[in-house]
Amino acid sequence: MIQKKGIGASPGVAIATALILDTEEFRIPRRTIDAAQTPHEIRVLEASLAASCEEVKALRVAATRKLGEKTAEIFAFHLAILTDKRLRNSVVDLIEKYRYPAAYAFGQEMNRRQREFRAVADVYLKERVRDLYDIEKRVLRHILGRAREDIRNLTQPVIIVAHDVTPSQAVTFDREHILGFAINVGGQTSHMSIIARMLGIPAVVGLNDITSDITGGETIVVDGTNGVVIADPDGGTLARFRQQQLAYKAHVAELAPLRDQPAVTLDGQTITLQANIELAEEARTAIDGGAEGIGLYRTEFLFLANERPPTEEQQYEVFRGAVRHAQGRPLTLRTIDLGADKMMRSMRAEGHDANPTLGLRSLRYCLQHLDMFKTHLRAMLRAAVDGDVRIMFPMITTVIELRQAMSIVSDVKEDLEEEGVPFGAHVPLGMMVETPAAALLMSSFARHVDFVSIGTNDLTQYTLAVDRGNERVAHLYASHSPAVLRLIREIIKGCKRFKTSVSLCGEMAGARIYTQLLLGLGLRQLSMAAPELLEVKQVIRSTRISDCEAIARKVLRFDADRQVLNYLREQLDMLDGSAE
Ligand code: PEP
Ligand code: MG
Repeated sequence: MIQKKGIGASPGVAIATALILDTEEFRIPRRTIDAAQTPHEIRVLEASLAASCEEVKALRVAATRKLGEKTAEIFAFHLAILTDKRLRNSVVDLIEKYRYPAAYAFGQEMNRRQREFRAVADVYLKERVRDLYDIEKRVLRHILGRAREDIRNLTQPVIIVAHDVTPSQAVTFDREHILGFAINVGGQTSHMSIIARMLGIPAVVGLNDITSDITGGETIVVDGTNGVVIADPDGGTLARFRQQQLAYKAHVAELAPLRDQPAVTLDGQTITLQANIELAEEARTAIDGGAEGIGLYRTEFLFLANERPPTEEQQYEVFRGAVRHAQGRPLTLRTIDLGADKMMRSMRAEGHDANPTLGLRSLRYCLQHLDMFKTHLRAMLRAAVDGDVRIMFPMITTVIELRQAMSIVSDVKEDLEEEGVPFGAHVPLGMMVETPAAALLMSSFARHVDFVSIGTNDLTQYTLAVDRGNERVAHLYASHSPAVLRLIREIIKGCKRFKTSVSLCGEMAGARIYTQLLLGLGLRQLSMAAPELLEVKQVIRSTRISDCEAIARKVLRFDADRQVLNYLREQLDMLDGSAE
């Protein structure tokens, strides 16, 4: 039994077979083959070892030319392993004895060797673990090149174990069969975590090297509430987690009646609760789950699912679908927030930012790709004919950028008008506040837009200079940091001055520990992952605005994250205690 602690990214407990998803999307489940197939698998293994040898020899020649004999020596180790008869024989044994397919048997043997190398005192051998890993990947690429399985068409429930899951991988997942995630990297607001929360799938991230601790095929438990993963649980542990799983399900069921109750505080203040979505069809489940509208539709996910940017008609159809699914409720279409970790394939070919979160991302990218941006806006404006659509710009940093974006919307409207194409002429235009620059200049922005939405995920990252997706600094990432809270206060103040409506759609909105604080800071509209709506509504219905304001006043006097968190925990415990 292996137990690992990571960062709880999406609550609940999942128990299922582990499926290791390689960064290159190799899927190596444990399964058995017919005895008659074993000669074929052995041939595949031998051909893959031979092909890998040829590749390494070619690499050695190239490396010698470029880097000299000494550096090229590294490949001697690779060749020695690849041509080692004992390696071939051990894998063949596994294929014959257990009737494993070549890929799984080879992975098993290489994992065993990596564990052995790691355990020895010899520093040279310890350092060779990385080489073994490279060799494993190379050979697997050849084996699976012949028998690559499709992650999109799973037939059994699994828990995905991976180094990372990129947003473009996540959009292609077969959601029905994925019960949980256990991921090496990432933090609370990395996109993988957000996706898991949206889907209501338990997830633990920041597990460091879970992918090398387990082989795949074993039973694992993902406790997303407490950030724990257990592989090969013993009977007692399994029973305990099954119990915990039932308790969590019962808690979710208990909240269900709140769906039809209004989000009103004890002293009569109504709060608008909306949902964040990533795919058009999620609008329906969100509205059916109690959302009063869609406060953030991350439209870039439509782009991530494709090799190239979708055409105007393709986008129009999808946005129109979202309008339909929103069932007359407000639908906030955010213009594409591509870049950083959300890369379209065609973007990779365009160039590489050494520091992508500070690079050509989001609206900056759109302003440099005007044709694509205009196509995108045309589709949005056309879809607006059928519903209550709003358009929102992400990652605004300067007033000029905002003005440019708005004037492009005007140009697109003129074009549509001239062409006689119907469009929503009065679509409200809004902006996200995700950079300290925009927060500090809120008054200058607020007069230009119809609405503002605070993106605390990025705002926290940029204010604290902490990468939101890096588990090594995850302990420093805190949206409740006094610096971030002061910026939120300034944003709300700036919006109030111009009577511009303001909402918050970062992950803070869906974490019930922050609900009282956010209401106390003056927010009356929040947008979150749909599965979080009722948790937040429960807090709203148990509190008073006057108490929330007192909480916010007190919190704004603290100067350390820890103080803020401890105090908010105390307040929430008191609230939960009084509700019981
Ligand atoms: C945010 O940054 O808070 C936000 C909502 O946008 P995203 O998470 O998509 O970057
Ligand atoms: Mg953002």
